[in-house]
Amino acid sequence: MTQQILIIGAGFGGMWSALSAVRLLDQHERLDVAVTLLAPQAELRVRPRFYESDLTTTVAPLGPLFDAVGVHFVQGSATRIDTAGKRVVYRDASGAQAELNFDRLILASGSQVARPPLAGIDRFAFDVDSLESAQKLETHLQGLRHKPASQARNTVVVVGGGFTGIETAMEMPARLRAILGNEADVRVIVVDMGKQVGSVMGEQIASVIAQASDTLGVTWKLGSPVSLVDEHGVQLDNGERIEASTVVWTVGVKASPLTQQIDGERDAFGRLHVDRNLKVLGQDSIYATGDTAYAAVDERGNHALMTCQHAIALGRSSGNNAAADLLGVEPIAYSQPKYVTCLDLGAWGAVFTEGWERKVVLTGKEGKELKTQINTQWIYPPQARRDIALAAADPLIPVVA
Ligand SMILES: Cc1cc2nc3c(=O)[nH]c(=O)nc-3n(C[C@H](O)[C@H](O)[C@H](O)COP(=O)(O)OP(=O)(O)OC[C@H]3O[C@@H](n4cnc5c(N)ncnc54)[C@H](O)[C@@H]3O)c2cc1C
Repeated sequence: MTQQILIIGAGFGGMWSALSAVRLLDQHERLDVAVTLLAPQAELRVRPRFYESDLTTTVAPLGPLFDAVGVHFVQGSATRIDTAGKRVVYRDASGAQAELNFDRLILASGSQVARPPLAGIDRFAFDVDSLESAQKLETHLQGLRHKPASQARNTVVVVGGGFTGIETAMEMPARLRAILGNEADVRVIVVDMGKQVGSVMGEQIASVIAQASDTLGVTWKLGSPVSLVDEHGVQLDNGERIEASTVVWTVGVKASPLTQQIDGERDAFGRLHVDRNLKVLGQDSIYATGDTAYAAVDERGNHALMTCQHAIALGRSSGNNAAADLLGVEPIAYSQPKYVTCLDLGAWGAVFTEGWERKVVLTGKEGKELKTQINTQWIYPPQARRDIALAAADPLIPVVA
């Protein structure tokens, strides 16, 4: 009887899981194990680019790739994971309920922005977390040109000065000027709880972020959280008010809610604790990968971050190891000791750092060239050719950006 490896999610973790599982099965010439991937769309949505204005190239089709390697794609959204019964209940594209059985399950359903229960946030704050929300923000920004000129119209508040907030804010002066004209007096304000500009990113990189902010005219309001969002702007906890027609929320992220359906320990982001082979601790048949996995990257106590840099390597490991488990062959422990950061700083350039302490290696134009290469080539799916795609899914290939 055919055994089933079922993957939930077609992001970085899910796509690479599927390819690496097929790769190992192929090497062992095992045609009696099928790889099925369940996701709302057969496409890789390149979330790291959702702070950009042109979203048309941020979606890569996966249908031809899955066909080329023999991954069975099922369109739908998982609603329930029955761990004991080894089945996943889902809603298909027409809204009908259906189910899939599994022998090994790989949970790769990613993460989403964690909006706190704050007055006005759901009605008035935008985000850049999903394709739909990024499109909504872009439509709103385009619409500003039809509004009467005012300081509020020309102001964007970005809540959160972490990775996503910084990339969103630094791109914003150019995005606003493209819509409102070069002469427009645009204001971009980052509201952050930190005491210094970019402090959450580490000391070395923070001074580069401050320099880029100065050059681009992006200002920071530090040390006070947002207490309320409304149609005309935000109110800070310290009583200060900023009038702004556009508020972008970037603070906080949480793992997919499907993680809660699996018994196991979770970290503060809701990620499932996994062993070195990415099997969920306490589970026999379930792996977690990408943003759903709390995984050690080395022997020194570092853990994967919720980044596509980690999700790609985690995916190559989880697919390989789920297949290895079924085949009864040795798994390859997940290991990713090298960590880098490449942060887009808009028209100023980008900054590339190495190591967990984020040692600055490249800045400005050089950093930007690398960022462009990462964001337009390296993180995209491999060519839809069986030999190329399977070779690219080797879990021993190091991911360095
Ligand atoms: C604006 C922004 C900028 C970023 N910049 C960077 C960066 O510069 N560098 C970096 O390394 N990372 C960056 N990231 C983080 C990176 O995008 C994520 O860490 C990465 O996408 C995680 O990959 P994943 O496969 O785990 O999840 P995702 O990419 O989120 O994919 C999840 C998949 O699961 C599917 N899914 C969800 N729920 C269900 C369900 N119920 N049933 C079936 N399928 C489901 C989704 O449709 C999707 O296909 C950024 C993220 C954002 C939002």
